[in-house]
Amino acid sequence: MNEIAPTMPSRVVTDRKSAIYLDHHATTPVDPRILAIAVNAMTSEFGNANGIENIHGETAAALVARARQQIADSLAVEPDEVHFTSGSTEAIQLALAHAVASKGEVLRVAVSRVEHKAVIDTVCHAERLGLAKVFWVNVDQHARLDFASLKAVLDQDIDLLCVMAANNEVGTIYPLQQIADAAQAAGAGLLVDATQAIGRIELNASTLSWDYLILSGHKIYAPKGVGALVSQVFDPSLQFGLHGAHLPTPNVAGIAALGMACQIMMEEGVAESLRLRALRDRLQEKMIALAGPVIVNGDQDNRLAHNLHIAALGAPNDLVLARLRGRVSISTGSACNAGAQEPSHVLRAMGMAPDIAETCLRIGLGRFTTDDEIGRTATEIADAINDVRKMLSGVIDV
Ligand code: PLP
Repeated sequence: MNEIAPTMPSRVVTDRKSAIYLDHHATTPVDPRILAIAVNAMTSEFGNANGIENIHGETAAALVARARQQIADSLAVEPDEVHFTSGSTEAIQLALAHAVASKGEVLRVAVSRVEHKAVIDTVCHAERLGLAKVFWVNVDQHARLDFASLKAVLDQDIDLLCVMAANNEVGTIYPLQQIADAAQAAGAGLLVDATQAIGRIELNASTLSWDYLILSGHKIYAPKGVGALVSQVFDPSLQFGLHGAHLPTPNVAGIAALGMACQIMMEEGVAESLRLRALRDRLQEKMIALAGPVIVNGDQDNRLAHNLHIAALGAPNDLVLARLRGRVSISTGSACNAGAQEPSHVLRAMGMAPDIAETCLRIGLGRFTTDDEIGRTATEIADAINDVRKMLSGVIDV
């Protein structure tokens, strides 16, 4: 096997050389070390991992086994708890379908109002089909879980509680231990959507128990199209009956990449977060100084280190993004809401006034973000915000 040592990667080169990429909550570039693993699995060790009658199949199967072990090690679970999917959305849907099938009658599912649409749309769809009844848990103005609301909901005989480990828009990190304790005390199962948090916060089964944990490759520098449902209880044959009757050919390259991505996150996640926190804090200071009045959203004491979510008062975000197009890639919110005119459900759940919500910008730093880029970005974004304000006050033309 072609071992790739996890050394510091060289700078990722994109074809958009002048555009600075700061939208790492939407997706991440593939780390060159992970790319090497994937390319190796597509070119040298390309066998069918189900066809272990020959050396090619055996080698591919070994790559899958290795990835399973790497993911298991990073979460302190057993390898057979790792079920590969095409990403978080599929893992969420499998988990919920499994929970519905296990219950055998209407699933009473509690969901925080700031969950990703992948969870919200799935539980709402299940409710429309008569398979689930949804209970909503409120959050406060920083997107922190309202524990009084959680308790009131859990008192209603809930089967499964769905909570994200960290929010994909404002970065708020959730106190999973406290949440898991509350769920356990109420006899509810727990689904943790760790898509944004994996490797960025302490998260493993030696301190936390869950029924379903969700992760996705493209948020942690692996390619798109691979993810995992990590679960001791999941049984692939249960929810569809026919599912599991035949093993699909595994996406060996994606799976091998996901394994390496988790290993790198386990080894480097803490140091990476420290570096990104310092860069983020510098960017935040500059935004306040150069583009005020600015409100910083999310839980200031407990948010993802690479997240900066601001309301640039008086500057509608679509106009700001239009000015930044081709120079700095940031977003107005989650990928699902980007481009849509309606305010994000997360900001609404936080009780944010619509005129403030429409000025919100989500900035997501990443592994390859440099000091220099932060300096240039601060000026670019501040100039765009100030231009929009001036334009709207009639000082300059469009
Ligand atoms: N959950 C969260 C918190 C996310 O941020 C995302 C993607 O943005 C998803 C789920 C869906 O992930 P995927 O793109 O892998 O389907």
